[in-house]
Amino acid sequence: MYKSINKKHVKLVTNLLQRFQSTLVVAEHTNDKLTPITLNVISAARKLGDEVSCLVAGTNCAKVVGEISKVQGVKKVLVAQHDAYKGLLPEELTPLILATQKQFQFTHICAGASAFGKNLLPRVAAKLDVAPISDIIEIKSPDTFVRTIYAGNALSTVKCSESVKVFSVRGTSFEAALVEGGSATKEEVLPLPPAGMSEWIEQNLTKSNRPELTSAKVVVSGGRGLKSGDNFKLLYDLADKLNAAVGASRAAVDAGFVPNDMQVGQTGKIVAPELYIAVGISGAIQHLAGMKDSKTIVAINKDPDAPIFQVADYGIVADLFKVVPEMTEALKK
Ligand SMILES: Cc1cc2nc3c(=O)[nH]c(=O)nc-3n(C[C@H](O)[C@H](O)[C@H](O)COP(=O)(O)OP(=O)(O)OC[C@H]3O[C@@H](n4cnc5c(N)ncnc54)[C@H](O)[C@@H]3O)c2cc1C
Repeated sequence: MYKSINKKHVKLVTNLLQRFQSTLVVAEHTNDKLTPITLNVISAARKLGDEVSCLVAGTNCAKVVGEISKVQGVKKVLVAQHDAYKGLLPEELTPLILATQKQFQFTHICAGASAFGKNLLPRVAAKLDVAPISDIIEIKSPDTFVRTIYAGNALSTVKCSESVKVFSVRGTSFEAALVEGGSATKEEVLPLPPAGMSEWIEQNLTKSNRPELTSAKVVVSGGRGLKSGDNFKLLYDLADKLNAAVGASRAAVDAGFVPNDMQVGQTGKIVAPELYIAVGISGAIQHLAGMKDSKTIVAINKDPDAPIFQVADYGIVADLFKVVPEMTEALKK
């Protein structure tokens, strides 16, 4: 009896609390396009209540503003355009976020747990003198969040008593918000004079015709078992047949086989595709931390005792140099 009354009570209070929440999502984008993780962050923000605003700071970002104002669940888009926001440097964005916070008094400020969010939010939190919560995977209530610890081996539920909750969101833990159906209002925010502490000069991005690792539906990853960078060609051929992105273990990156933007795992990228094919990867916990939420996992390893088989839905105990070309050939038919 008591139990059911308590549960109802808690739900009522939670609903009531949600009505007073207002969340600012700091949008990650390239001026032309919204970075996909922003859509996952918007879904997370909606769990806190209906008042979701997005801040788009950039140089010439009308396209992104148009895109984000149609996203379902976004009520308001705050737009700040200035040359100083080139490259979305935290030194320039932080004063803007603080000024926006002063004006709108958000209860929550969040961004994706990508390089962008990891770079920006600690600075914002420090300036607000609050403790940030990083890489959340679930929102239990407006002040209670779940995040992974010990390389994903345990979950920690954190209750935050700060006046404004600053947190980053693991993209793979929340569905992407729908890009159609919304009709947010737009409001210009006056850009602040440049802080001038740092200047964005240029960025050199890896050019690839393959899908982006963190948003690909299929990922083929290679480990130390590949033995050289040249042998990754086997994986590229297979990936091209599957329209897949190619990832790697840290051992493969550290050995110089492939660049480090391909690293999957605790200190690399977190992925959760429909299909993850691990080739010549042993399955250390730090690697699993980055891919074990994949819907279907296939492992190819010549060692039947390799730990990767404990998380794999399908395992092939075989020499990768034989099996991978066979798979690619079979897909050509
Ligand atoms: C703080 C910290 C953070 C880390 N972060 C990450 C991270 O983000 N991502 C990550 O991946 N690792 C990370 N690591 C490293 C991790 O502990 C492992 O060392 C690494 O994942 C091992 O990579 P691997 O599986 O490619 O290599 P190995 O463990 O050497 O495994 C190679 C596998 O290939 C198989 N193999 C060899 N030849 C063949 C063949 N011909 N056919 C089939 N199979 C073959 C072997 O049986 C073996 O299982 C981290 C470690 C630490 C301490």
